[in-house]
Amino acid sequence: MKKLVPVVCLLLILSGCCPGKKISTSATAVVIVPRSGWNAAEPKPYKSHLPVQITIHHEGTKLEITDDAARKIKNIQIWGMGKDRNWVDIPYHFLIAPDGTIYEGRNVFTVGETATEYDPTGHLLITCLGNLEQQEVPPAQLAALTRLIAYCCKKYNLPLETLASHRDHSAQTTCPGKNLYHYLQNGYIKAEVKKSLAL
Ligand SMILES: [Zn+2]
Repeated sequence: MKKLVPVVCLLLILSGCCPGKKISTSATAVVIVPRSGWNAAEPKPYKSHLPVQITIHHEGTKLEITDDAARKIKNIQIWGMGKDRNWVDIPYHFLIAPDGTIYEGRNVFTVGETATEYDPTGHLLITCLGNLEQQEVPPAQLAALTRLIAYCCKKYNLPLETLASHRDHSAQTTCPGKNLYHYLQNGYIKAEVKKSLAL
């Protein structure tokens, strides 16, 4: 984020820094590692959709902050596209590593995947890597999540009111894990997103 400071300052100068002027593009800017950053395979032909709401997940297997998140993501894709699931691509649209790095998943305009009973059509799926039922949510991962939600709300015109998690749509899972769900229940995530969107 430090690298963004000169850009923000420049934008402030260029905008005349008038009270009431909003520089919302920089306030919700995020850095997203492209698919090439985790050596993604090409997707198979897929069903398209228009995202209308954001749904939060955890990936569900333990991952430490020092582990290789890009390799983990590659392995999720290999497993998901393999004979066990036969999915067309990695199941999520975005993935966030424990250190807060955000990775591009499948095309946002394609329907995601689920192993549970809800229909993910219209859902933009963001997953936090790790098992957040057992592991605490690292602060960097939580901060990246709120920034990414703000970015997606703005970019894809999604109402924050419909933000929910996997377990809110499915009776078959505890996803995104109690330690992440806590921040949805107590309103922390929505409050932080609102702050980003208001900047
Ligand atoms: Zn889930």
